Amino acid sequence: MEPILVLLHTEGDGALHKASLEALSVARALGCAFDVGLVGGNVNPALAQIAGCGARRVLALDGADFAVSRYSTDCPAAVALFQETLPAVVIAPCTARWQRSLPGAAARMGGAADTHLTGVALVDGEVEVSRWFYRQRIEATFRREQRPWFLLVEGGIRAPYSAQGYAPAIERLTLSVKPRTEVTGMIAPQGSTQTIRPEAELLLVAGAGWTKKQKDGAIHIEQAGKLILDLLANTNASLGSSKSLVDLSGEGHAVLPFLSHLNQVGQTGSTPRHPKGLATCCHGEEPHAVGWRFVQDRRAVNLDANCGWARGKADVVYVADAFAVMERLNALLAKR
Ligand SMILES: Cc1cc2nc3c(=O)[nH]c(=O)nc-3n(C[C@H](O)[C@H](O)[C@H](O)COP(=O)(O)OP(=O)(O)OC[C@H]3O[C@@H](n4cnc5c(N)ncnc54)[C@H](O)[C@@H]3O)c2cc1C
Repeated sequence: MEPILVLLHTEGDGALHKASLEALSVARALGCAFDVGLVGGNVNPALAQIAGCGARRVLALDGADFAVSRYSTDCPAAVALFQETLPAVVIAPCTARWQRSLPGAAARMGGAADTHLTGVALVDGEVEVSRWFYRQRIEATFRREQRPWFLLVEGGIRAPYSAQGYAPAIERLTLSVKPRTEVTGMIAPQGSTQTIRPEAELLLVAGAGWTKKQKDGAIHIEQAGKLILDLLANTNASLGSSKSLVDLSGEGHAVLPFLSHLNQVGQTGSTPRHPKGLATCCHGEEPHAVGWRFVQDRRAVNLDANCGWARGKADVVYVADAFAVMERLNALLAKR
């Protein structure tokens, strides 16, 4: 049994993101005593979310200096919370903010850090973790002797903790920091133009076929873009893409303007975890389909009955014209 610190940061509104509540569940599932450390501008809303979690101590470093993600304040904040609790193992969500700062904190403490962990378990009294290597092709389970050990866990591996009872008592630490970087604001895409939605029920994937000549000998980019955006609007699906389609812009071809490499799914792209996926105008090549490994129900629309999806990569393949299928689908969805 090793002493554990669960390190969480709050969001702009002072609440904890789902990924943080999932990391708390990962720690609770180990059955060891643990403390919670909170970092953020205002941590009061977070306290209600962790009510009844069973932490021995809940400590916080809060205030304007810790409101924003910044290495020069996040790293010392993590170190201060660490020094106050002296854990052997630190568990934290694998958020962009912690990924940037916690490996530095681990190094300052003479410890080790592992990111993107998909499993944490206690085996024969020792902490054992798992993660994927070689672009999601090899899954390894391993232990480390080095302590402290900072574990950054992926989202979706445990249900988020849900509060019970009263908010815990809190111990507030103080730390004087002199940040040289000032965060002056945040620029984010509008909700309506944000096409990557990790929590969506459905992943819609667009392939290069949307930009190819169709049976009339012409390409129909505008129609393709409208069909795809209408489906997203009708279903709130997340939008993925094949590499070929997002590469086209770099090659000077006609492109769908709302796609970037961030949408790319596959060996050199992302590995999303949606319950359902629909691939359209995309061939189902192995380097692309490898990114589909966590999508549970996979369907594809392709003109080619011999496409990669038909060779065991999808549960259902519709051999059909995706332009016609999507048009009909959108009409049916609009009637709902
Ligand atoms: C090391 C390496 C890593 C790679 N990593 C990735 C990766 O991460 N992600 C990735 O996507 N690719 C990756 N690739 C590329 C991958 O091998 C494929 O080249 C790519 O995925 C093909 O994209 P596509 O299916 O969109 O295009 P295409 O292969 O051109 O397929 C287009 C499909 O559209 C269909 N089609 C055309 N018109 C219609 C219509 N009207 N209705 C229905 N179907 C239609 C065609 O039948 C065809 O099957 C990688 C390759 C390598 C070598």
